Amino acid sequence: MGSFISAKKQDSLQECLICEEEKNKGIHLLNYFICENCETDIVKSDTGDQGYELYVNRLKKVKNALIPNKKNNVQ
Ligand SMILES: [Zn+2]
Repeated sequence: MGSFISAKKQDSLQECLICEEEKNKGIHLLNYFICENCETDIVKSDTGDQGYELYVNRLKKVKNALIPNKKNNVQ
């Protein structure tokens, strides 16, 4: 009987929607992934920040996904 090492971590990197870097910690919004850093940045951002506009633009993708499209009556 062989000894199986099952300590294999699930460290599947995912590309962050905001910074486009591959991270393994973060949050999921449907099919989208936002890394820990960006999530924190967004929370901390004020509307006057330079980065904010970028975040908003990126997050529009998520927003579109979150809002159900009535035309797409998928069964
Ligand atoms: Zn990120």
